[in-house]
Amino acid sequence: MTQYTVPRGTRDILPEETTLWQFVEQKAREVFALYNFREIRTPVFEHTELFLRGIGENTDIISKEMYTFQDRKGRNLTLRPEGTAAVVRAYLESNRRNQEPLSKLWYQGPMFRYERPQAGRYRQFHQIGCEVLGAGNAYQDTEVIAMAQHFFTALGLKDLEVHINSVGCKICRPVIKERLKSFLGDNLDNLCEDCRKRFETNPLRILDCKNPKCNDFFVGLPDISSVLCADCKSHFHDVQDYLNILQIKFKVNPRLVRGLDYYTKTVFEVISGQLGAQNAVCGGGRYDNLVQELGGPALPAVGFAFGLERVVLIMQNQNITVPDARPYILLAPLGENACGRAAVFAEALRHSGVPAEIDVSAKGLGAKLKSANKLGVAYVYILGDDELLEKCGQLKNMLTGAQEKVAFTDFAARLQKNYQQDRGEK
Ligand code: ATP
Ligand code: MG
Repeated sequence: MTQYTVPRGTRDILPEETTLWQFVEQKAREVFALYNFREIRTPVFEHTELFLRGIGENTDIISKEMYTFQDRKGRNLTLRPEGTAAVVRAYLESNRRNQEPLSKLWYQGPMFRYERPQAGRYRQFHQIGCEVLGAGNAYQDTEVIAMAQHFFTALGLKDLEVHINSVGCKICRPVIKERLKSFLGDNLDNLCEDCRKRFETNPLRILDCKNPKCNDFFVGLPDISSVLCADCKSHFHDVQDYLNILQIKFKVNPRLVRGLDYYTKTVFEVISGQLGAQNAVCGGGRYDNLVQELGGPALPAVGFAFGLERVVLIMQNQNITVPDARPYILLAPLGENACGRAAVFAEALRHSGVPAEIDVSAKGLGAKLKSANKLGVAYVYILGDDELLEKCGQLKNMLTGAQEKVAFTDFAARLQKNYQQDRGEK
């Protein structure tokens, strides 16, 4: 028989891990709400044109990573490689600007990039991200960085660093590019093939090259921040001031650029020492031209996205555990007659909010107690023929091993009370 496997670069997230995922998602929801962000959900695929226009043709994503296909009517569609372009599209399409001067939106979901799969890098991966549309001031850049920091702290993650930089705007970016090109020009032959291409198409991205050979040539590189225009300089300065006021630790990394073309002024990453080559957990920045580029008004914006796979990986490395919701009680009917009665109890408990499991198999008591142990339940309620006659089951406390008779009439209320008490104590 054929054994089917997941496609390369994708993976199943099994129940042992989904507990962590749900914890991360829940924390994001809570923290983002504290900052007045509201969730937006956009489709998993969009018109290819949106990404071509939004992300930039000379980026890795557009040139080699997109999952593009034609539907039956020949429409050119692409599985989203990132979230921002679609959020901006939805923002413009729904005329949100007429309803609110400042939109603070967040999203979550799978993204698709045809990349070389490795630890922390997949072809289907999951992001949670946020976008603020309509604010150009430096406070807003800082607020999203503060929110990212708040969120990672709430998860209990340790040893993360915030790196920031400014990549300039329409006015100073050409100057930055020229400086970079004249510096690297002499060493062009020593750079990797990708970088030689980038030299012509997107020189800033050379700074982002992961090839250690190229990195050697960056020593003595001109500092981008010295070439910024007055406006970008003072914006970058203000962002750092706000970060200091809020006591958020950060490093200015003059080599930090991002993989997408739309960034202007502030860019930032949250870096973990524990992810090896895939050390970026979260990336973001300001994108003041994208809204206009996608057909809207000239509207400044800023946002970030983090990868859930990488966050979960760090949590596992740092031994961060979260409580797993397990059943509180196992109903153990012995013999067919007891099964109906046990089913009624199980259902009654569930309706009163007590997680209950039932074992209707033909196994004996020993085997059922064993599976109760495996489930990690606090109690087992044993119902055999004698108990049915007496209308009274045996309640076994799995922690102490103590067993006592509990009448059918008292059972549900008793369990509900125990459950509430146990939960309250935790
Ligand atoms: P990298 O430099 O690692 O390729 P990136 O700059 O392409 O990251 P962004 O597009 O900014 O990443 O996405 C933000 C976050 O999404 C990253 O910091 C990372 O956590 C996550 N991410 C990006 N690509 C992948 C992928 N292929 N697999 C898993 N997570 C990813
Ligand atoms: Mg990438």
